[in-house]
Amino acid sequence: MAQYTPMIQQYLAVKAQAPDAFLFFRLGDFYELFFEDAVNASRELEITLTGRGGGMEERIPMCGVPYHAAEGYVAKLIEKGFKVAICEQVEDPAEAKGVVRREIVRIVTPGTVMENKLLGEKSNNYIVSIVFKDDLYGFTACDISTGELYTTWLDNSLELVIDELNVYNPAEIISSAALLGDIGKFTLSWSKTTVLTEWTDVDEQLLDEHFIADAALSSLLPVNRHGIALLLTYLRETQKRALTHVKHIRVYEHDQYMTMDPFTRRNLELVETVRERTKKGSLLWLLDKTVTAMGARMLRRWIEKPLMSVSRIEERLEAVDTLYHQLMIREDLKLALKEVYDLERLVARISYGNANARDMNALKHSLKQVPALKEVCASSGSETLRKLVDNMDMCEDVMLWITDAIEDEPPVSVRDGGIIREGYHCHLDQLKEASKNGKQWIAELERKEREATGIKSLKIGYNKIFGYFIEITKANMASLPEGRYERKQTLANAERYVTPELKEKEALILEAQDKMVDLEYGLFTELRDRISGHVSRLQLLAERIAAADVYQSLAAVSAAQHYCRPEIAEGYDLLITEGRHPVVEAVLQEGSFIANETKLKQEEGRILLITGPNMAGKSTYMRQVAVISVMAQIGCFVPAASAKVALTDRIFTRIGAADDLIGGQSTFMVEMMDIQVMTEKATERSLVVIDELGRGTSTGEGMAIAQAVIEFLHDKVGCKTLVSTHFHELAHLEESLVYLTNHCMAVKESGDQVTFLRKLIKGAASTSYGIYCAEIAGLPQTIIERSYELLNVFTARAELFEAEAAAALSTEQIADGQAVYAAASKKVSVEVESPNTLAKGPIVQLSLFEA
Ligand code: ADP
Repeated sequence: MAQYTPMIQQYLAVKAQAPDAFLFFRLGDFYELFFEDAVNASRELEITLTGRGGGMEERIPMCGVPYHAAEGYVAKLIEKGFKVAICEQVEDPAEAKGVVRREIVRIVTPGTVMENKLLGEKSNNYIVSIVFKDDLYGFTACDISTGELYTTWLDNSLELVIDELNVYNPAEIISSAALLGDIGKFTLSWSKTTVLTEWTDVDEQLLDEHFIADAALSSLLPVNRHGIALLLTYLRETQKRALTHVKHIRVYEHDQYMTMDPFTRRNLELVETVRERTKKGSLLWLLDKTVTAMGARMLRRWIEKPLMSVSRIEERLEAVDTLYHQLMIREDLKLALKEVYDLERLVARISYGNANARDMNALKHSLKQVPALKEVCASSGSETLRKLVDNMDMCEDVMLWITDAIEDEPPVSVRDGGIIREGYHCHLDQLKEASKNGKQWIAELERKEREATGIKSLKIGYNKIFGYFIEITKANMASLPEGRYERKQTLANAERYVTPELKEKEALILEAQDKMVDLEYGLFTELRDRISGHVSRLQLLAERIAAADVYQSLAAVSAAQHYCRPEIAEGYDLLITEGRHPVVEAVLQEGSFIANETKLKQEEGRILLITGPNMAGKSTYMRQVAVISVMAQIGCFVPAASAKVALTDRIFTRIGAADDLIGGQSTFMVEMMDIQVMTEKATERSLVVIDELGRGTSTGEGMAIAQAVIEFLHDKVGCKTLVSTHFHELAHLEESLVYLTNHCMAVKESGDQVTFLRKLIKGAASTSYGIYCAEIAGLPQTIIERSYELLNVFTARAELFEAEAAAALSTEQIADGQAVYAAASKKVSVEVESPNTLAKGPIVQLSLFEA
């Protein structure tokens, strides 16, 4: 190391403080990267790799980006999941002895982004910390771009942690190496890349100091204290400043919300679609008619966390109901909301110290809308909306401060003046006056000199190097009296001069200008700091505005799509008439979606066994029931003619083929693992939806498992269940399981034409029309014909088998463990006598039958 130049030695010392980040090392007008960072960054950013001497024989790899363009490059690296440490010169190079002092001023990580460019406007950007203490997991999520911080505790089960992670889809997770290792074993199923950062450094004193004014602090569990402190310590370490806009700890219990495992969230396509992973086509996409970014984010949070409290849901429904019926009020609300900028992020930037004067004006403009918003809500007739704006602090003082201080159209930069309004500050006005007078004096001088010399083209100009000068073209030189001015610079076709008087004025003007710019910056930061002191008030206001926006959005969609207000009940039953799948309906041609009824009652049918051919609409129907439950519990109207919805504590779904091969496991294995979780966690208040239960293994085994699972849900759990199956043989379960009813999707046959009616009817389907589907899909006719031929053979064989088994039974040759044939017979005998105990008998397969 000693052989490196002092600058490279400094570089290496700084780099050691941020080994896992790209170090952007400020050298004059560039950020330079060295060594391995340079090699990797040149590849990732597609910039040229060069090299420089550093005191050793070998040249040091190097690449760089201009400081003014750095944001874009940082953004690129963050998007790829890297971290970037920004190292600045922290002393004036002119005053430095030896190498200029440099320090890391901030480490940008995917979870700590503040820049607009990097943030999705309509979604939060969370960083999550996970800790384990006292047999509990502490889970904390923070969005530093808005200042929100949520924390909860979870029982000792990693699945719960994974469920919770899926609610937040964090950009970054910080935890111990061991916990990160455990989490890494699960498939995180959101679409963005998540960075796992190992971090164990905790400063609990920091926690106490930071949240000293927050009432939630004193009642935290140790595990939450630990988790928040861990997060705070990491944020302090990377951001190098106190994040004063992260003001409140919101503690929640995870069972305040409906629980959904990651697959269920994905299968129901709540915030993104299964296949394209896009918002378009999801429930969020359909319901999002918000007009503010804060509203859009809040709606997303509501969808991710359906409520478990009847009163809170009713409160939301009341507001939606009012706005549903009052188009004018909805429109007025929208009009006012349209003018509101992203208050949460504006306020966060003000507090973080990177807001400019235009941000201030955006805040002012937003605050101006508040009285109108308040008025609309207060007079809407909705109790919920009235409460929302009751005692609402409209932060008028903040608006007035900005109005008084900031020019209407300030520049982007806060360092070049032009920000502060006249009349705001006495000394600034004096300086402005002096500068203005000076400039007037110069204009006057130009006029006088033109007159005196008779040179009409004489002009007074200014540049940074020479200051003010009098310019005379070569053609007019002859008219200039000798010795009138002092020659300063010669150009190709002009001469430039100065006079002592001009230089004197110049000094005054420039001094005033310098002072002005400094003073303006000072006044601006003073205002910014003053507003920072009122962050809490502004955040509270932002939250209320966001809620109003969500209400108008839900109401607008509910009205446009003709949804109905669900009746929310504490009991068991789920009764839906003319239910529709909101998204499928929205993308189909208007009026072409076929509505269906749902009746799941504790004492009647709580399990629907749905048979019917592929493409008949089974999975759409089952999803629709689940999605309607979710919509009702977020406080939205639902796509139905009427709906009575009991609260559902959990939804399990096992639908579709999109997550077929995860981590190399077979579909069947994944399904079995899901079902294992379901059997463990489902309660009477849960909703279980399984599509094609038992597929992926042999027919006999599949059917056996399907029946056993259904029996378990029926006898032991008692939850509402929708199961589709292509094992038509399972229809007999209706006879033995009192709470199970057979349903099927109706089809109409005429000649060799089959039409799907998409109507759920009672009873079991007889055939599955699989070959018919294959034909519609366009398989070659030879395959289709051969399939029908084989089907006939198989059916005949199965009949023969049954007949033989029955014969064996009648001659009473059966005994446990006898011949293979006898085993097969026993299975059939059990099936014949008591169909619902099929799974308990020995499982025998087609291979046995063929033996
Ligand atoms: P299955 O699960 O029985 O194979 P799906 O539920 O996937 O069938 O439905 C197949 C297609 O039929 C869907 O993509 C949808 O376009 C259409 N569909 C389903 N249900 C309905 C309905 N109730 N009304 C109109 N079209 C429907």
